[in-house]
Amino acid sequence: MLIAVFAGAGVATIVLAGTVQAAPAVQADVQNPLLAPWIGPYGGVPPFDKVKVEQFKPALEAGMAGALAEIDRIANDPALPTFANTIAAMEGSARPLDRASSIFSVYSSNMSTPDFQKVEEEMAPKLAAFSDQITQNERLFARIAAVYEARESAGLTPEQKRLVWLDYTNFVHAGARLDAASKKRLSEINQRLASLFTKFSQNLLADETDYVLLLDKQEDLAGLPASVRATAAASAEERGQKGKWAVVNTRSSMEPFLTYSDRRDLREKVWRTYYSRGDHDDAHDNKAIITEILKLRAERAKLLGYQTHAHWRMENTMAHTPARAMELMQAVWQPAVARVHEEVADMQALADREGAKIAIEPWDYRYYAEKVRKAKYDLDENEVKPYLQLEKLREAMFWVAGQLFGLQFTLVNDVPVNNPDIRVYKVTDAAGRLIGLWYFDPYARPAKHSGAWMTAYRNQERFERPITTIVSNNANFVKGQAGEPILISWDDAETLFHEFGHALHGLNSNVNYPSLSGTSVPTDYVEFPSQLLEHWLLTPEVLNRFALHYKTGQPMPPALVEKIKRAHTFNQGFATVEYLAGALVDMKLHLAGDQTIDPRAFEKDTLAALGMPREIVMRHRTPQFAHIFSSDDYSAGYYSYLWSETLSADAWEAFTEAGGPYDQATAQRLHDDVFSKGNTMDPAEAYRAFRGRDPGIAALMRDRGFAVPTEAKAAK
Ligand SMILES: [Zn+2]
Repeated sequence: MLIAVFAGAGVATIVLAGTVQAAPAVQADVQNPLLAPWIGPYGGVPPFDKVKVEQFKPALEAGMAGALAEIDRIANDPALPTFANTIAAMEGSARPLDRASSIFSVYSSNMSTPDFQKVEEEMAPKLAAFSDQITQNERLFARIAAVYEARESAGLTPEQKRLVWLDYTNFVHAGARLDAASKKRLSEINQRLASLFTKFSQNLLADETDYVLLLDKQEDLAGLPASVRATAAASAEERGQKGKWAVVNTRSSMEPFLTYSDRRDLREKVWRTYYSRGDHDDAHDNKAIITEILKLRAERAKLLGYQTHAHWRMENTMAHTPARAMELMQAVWQPAVARVHEEVADMQALADREGAKIAIEPWDYRYYAEKVRKAKYDLDENEVKPYLQLEKLREAMFWVAGQLFGLQFTLVNDVPVNNPDIRVYKVTDAAGRLIGLWYFDPYARPAKHSGAWMTAYRNQERFERPITTIVSNNANFVKGQAGEPILISWDDAETLFHEFGHALHGLNSNVNYPSLSGTSVPTDYVEFPSQLLEHWLLTPEVLNRFALHYKTGQPMPPALVEKIKRAHTFNQGFATVEYLAGALVDMKLHLAGDQTIDPRAFEKDTLAALGMPREIVMRHRTPQFAHIFSSDDYSAGYYSYLWSETLSADAWEAFTEAGGPYDQATAQRLHDDVFSKGNTMDPAEAYRAFRGRDPGIAALMRDRGFAVPTEAKAAK
């Protein structure tokens, strides 16, 4: 049933559980802790205290063999195919493999040591082949097809019908109807892609780890606030360079440096190093890998009967076709670019007034934007930070979850973790019933991927017996001195809320079948609950209770809150364009068919044709675009963030129209129609049930401070 995505899991902001159909528990090597049923409190917990890297290969191999035996039994059942003996039997299958895969994906994102990477490289193609063996099992597919044909007259519930439809569609989508020769080629392609995804991801991690800018003079730190210096000092010490300052080649290190450093030469250096990850023409270069990935994807799409990879990928999304996704992106692109030109003009004027005698370059953008923010909105990030304590914000998230969904979080100490810094919370509902566990892994560590993400270790289900979910939130904050609060930026606070939104989507899940559970929804719908949750950070209820100054304990002053609100639409030109450029390039790469693509030239030409402002680069340049090249998940799917944000802006207005962010009736509908539904119904219908109508883009444009197009106004 559920197998996590292996290659490069964790690089994206959420690790989606890709569903691969496999089969009721078979005899597995229970000596191997990776395969054994999870024991302990809370319905069993992952045995992180017993895992050793050398156990992964035997566990995955035994798990796959066991799953294939179960599948064979289902496929060769002499009884006529029914929902119970086919579809439900598959849901209950491959439990040992699921457990091993779940921990495997945690290692891939959080504990990717060199010895683990070797196992991952070896196992990725084998896991891909395994998944093909299932979707290409003809007897199994014949049974699924028979249940599908009879679905209307079999007395199935709507959820069961949805599951049948999904299984059938996924099998067809994965090539179940191909002839033998095509199936063989398809499987070769999938295995090769799995290897390339792993390599891509590992190259990127190498470039993030290997390139560190060490500073050893005070004058190199000019402009950097104390918190950024402290982080850089701690990073240097971690690398055995006590007394120096390290600018690590990750987003969380690059962004503050480019925002504050007065040293234009060093800003340029940091910028170039960061944005050339995977593009050094060396052993870790990703360009040839990308060319091959794109070729193979184009070939696979043709084989499966689709015009392009984008058409194939988007068939089961909410947007459904590349054309609809492009239409949304293009509607937002022009107003966003127009805003960038205004932002650059503001920054240029400020630089001129300061006598800087420069033209704004990409490594100047964040620096001058911050100065404009101070000048125009009188808002200084460093004024905000002392009010944003990591642990207080965690409490804030818990409080919001309590207000909206009646959830309670309690710290527990009886669960094994793979690092002492990881904490585990028991989650209960308003009636005090256990609904799951929430793992919190907040700090950066070597061998942990950068960024922030949510993972489900176990999905909620209840068709055989009730199983509660286990979810985790992961971030990369630099661990401070013992006893000192960790102060974070406003952006990081939003990201915390975002990832917690994914966690709540998992925790609130109330479905029968694990394949339909929690965040197992289409890519362009999965960011909707998480983006929506970001909105609660800025509510006075949260700020007054939890945005407390780390020294005085006083809440953020109303004047500062006002400034943050006014500055909310600030720099939205930059944020929208750096994102949208990536989303458009992603779609165009995957609409290009089987031509041989030179990633550098394609990126350059595509951006030129779009009229990309020269002062901005793509948020993830092609050679480092892990969303689309470390797995298939977000390929031709990076637009999903904008699609989901259209929904979340529109959904937020449901609360404001109803009287406020904590309106109980609206929160109840949000729970019933969105957060608890998983993939048990079509997302477009689920949204309509919540909102009473389809979403429009007007709310999104208002949220970003862009002009609302006339036709959008009419449509609302
Ligand atoms: Zn997300």
